[in-house]
Amino acid sequence: MSIAENIAAIEQTLHGTAARLVVVTKTHPVERLREAYAAGARLFGENRVQEMAAKQPELPADVEWHQIGQLQTNKVKYLAAFVHTVQSVDSLRLLLELDKHAARHQRVINGLLQFHIAQEETKTGLSLPEAEAILQAPEYQNMRHVRLTGVMGIATNSPDEAVVRGEFQQLKQHFDYLKERYFAASEAFREISMGMSADYPLAVAEGSTLVRVGSAIFGSRG
Ligand SMILES: *Cc1c(COP(=O)(O)O)cnc(C)c1O
Repeated sequence: MSIAENIAAIEQTLHGTAARLVVVTKTHPVERLREAYAAGARLFGENRVQEMAAKQPELPADVEWHQIGQLQTNKVKYLAAFVHTVQSVDSLRLLLELDKHAARHQRVINGLLQFHIAQEETKTGLSLPEAEAILQAPEYQNMRHVRLTGVMGIATNSPDEAVVRGEFQQLKQHFDYLKERYFAASEAFREISMGMSADYPLAVAEGSTLVRVGSAIFGSRG
């Protein structure tokens, strides 16, 4: 199946749900991104800063670029001029850096708090107390150029559906709690980024608003 056919098939499963598709374009050359764009995709996700910064000028300006991989503070300057959402916010330090650089470009960068929901030790992300410590910090409350718009998580890579479903439910619970406790007045805080090629239908059933899908569109990254 072609990129366009794969995107159409995924869009069909998302139709009538709250979820939008982030096409994960990491490792793929610009021509394949153009194909995805021609098929209607507008939200693109990359996990390496340099790669995103190199591709961004090659695509139309209405692409929403999402940073989905861990972001080091010293790399923020390479994407501050254009990134729409940093889905991998895992520290107050990163938020401060995003705020500083976004201010220089007179823009606002969206951020998702990334939670550790998987059983695997290696997957990064915040615990709920860590996230609350960020939200209660005076420095956070003074930020004017970053806006938190929701949460993100990566489930365990497991064929056990009950495990994966439980992790999605946990992320949804974190979202609901933070929404009520810190963002009740914020319409912008509404995103739950969860679900990848292997598990996005399950994530959508559990309330995902952003699915991040790569290999189901482009084939395996080899
Ligand atoms: C690579 C990646 C994806 C997409 O994974 P696929 O299995 O190819 O759909 C989603 N989220 C994150 C954070 C990734 O790094």
